[in-house]
Amino acid sequence: MFRRDTQRSRVYAAEQAAFRDAQLLPIRGHLALQDLVDEITGERWWLSTFPQAPRHVTARFRRGGGATAWVFNNTITIGRQALMSWVILHELAHLAYGARTVGRASHGPSFCRAYLALVEHYLGEEAVAKLRRCMTDSNVSLAGEPAYRLAE
Ligand SMILES: [Zn+2]
Repeated sequence: MFRRDTQRSRVYAAEQAAFRDAQLLPIRGHLALQDLVDEITGERWWLSTFPQAPRHVTARFRRGGGATAWVFNNTITIGRQALMSWVILHELAHLAYGARTVGRASHGPSFCRAYLALVEHYLGEEAVAKLRRCMTDSNVSLAGEPAYRLAE
């Protein structure tokens, strides 16, 4: 079943507010980006937290400043101008929670909980508190979609 992605603009607003002062990552080459993603998806934490996540994610640069996650082939594409750690974590969150299994809204509560878990693990308490606060301020819902739960 298809559900409208009603939270997308609210999630974007929240992360812009939370991370507007974040620095670009010092990653220049494709291999370095893939190495970083391999490091994340190779951690035991990745699969124990997200049992439905792919073991390998392909990471590629693309033109422009945007970023996209492709669930059908477990690929993320990131523009060089968008190369922030939180952008990488946002895109990985799309793949982490098993989006292909159910017609969940792609920026729905399951995505948001996965994103928060990734931000907490990789960027720390302060960053996740800020993102959580900005999500609340932007009326982003973290509740619902009970079929999905983070592993303990
Ligand atoms: Zn997204």
